[in-house]
Amino acid sequence: MSGAHSRAPGRFDRQVVYERFGPAGQERLSRGRAIIVGVGGLGCTLADLLARSGVGLLRLVDDDVVALENLHRQVLFDEADAAAAVPKVARRIARINGQVRVETVQERLAPGNAAKLVADVDLILDGTDNFPTRFLINDLAVKQNIPWVFAGVVGAEAQTMTILPGRTPCLRCVFDSPPPPCLDPTCRSAGVLAPAVVAVAAAQAMEAIRILAGHAESISPYLTKFDLWTGSLQRMNVAEACADVDCPCCKRREFEFLYP
Ligand SMILES: [Zn+2]
Repeated sequence: MSGAHSRAPGRFDRQVVYERFGPAGQERLSRGRAIIVGVGGLGCTLADLLARSGVGLLRLVDDDVVALENLHRQVLFDEADAAAAVPKVARRIARINGQVRVETVQERLAPGNAAKLVADVDLILDGTDNFPTRFLINDLAVKQNIPWVFAGVVGAEAQTMTILPGRTPCLRCVFDSPPPPCLDPTCRSAGVLAPAVVAVAAAQAMEAIRILAGHAESISPYLTKFDLWTGSLQRMNVAEACADVDCPCCKRREFEFLYP
């Protein structure tokens, strides 16, 4: 045994030496509470990265089971999970980091259970694959003043935006209403490539870490779109673009998706 410099490497050593995060960020992150709505392609990567980063609590919400066609992009699952059709929320994040408190809810987010599921969280993460559920999350987040991170991906194209209620435009400032199903391409109809899913989920996870570690003030009001196939990136300043929008959600506070 040697002296004071023989301390065993810590789990988070490589994170806390990053100056903008640091030990204070790690401490705050370890008390952070996040809900991930949907444990598909986005939700798997979100849960994986946030568990490894040392978030305090992850509440995973999904009513679906694992199938073979999920495996190319849903990184928490394997062939045995698909063969047994295990619930997507059943895979144990605790095996990645036993210090994270994981709560699993095998339900679909709906107006009836939404308020209860987010009552005690600091952040809502969008792992869904449809706009009606995102509009419900947006109503819920704005009404309860909870930050949330939107993301969507189809093909090789992805988009993401962070919503800080009261400080940045909400999803309905940008998208007036959910597109009709015939105009809303999905992973089922238009396909999806795993790198695009993982890339946008990683961007979401970074926003989650910044918010939960106490750096929400550094979040910028941008809708970011990228195409992993061509490598192109576009950013729209939504604070400028939506300044005059009379938003039914965040301006008029009519929460029609929460109270249909
Ligand atoms: Zn709005």
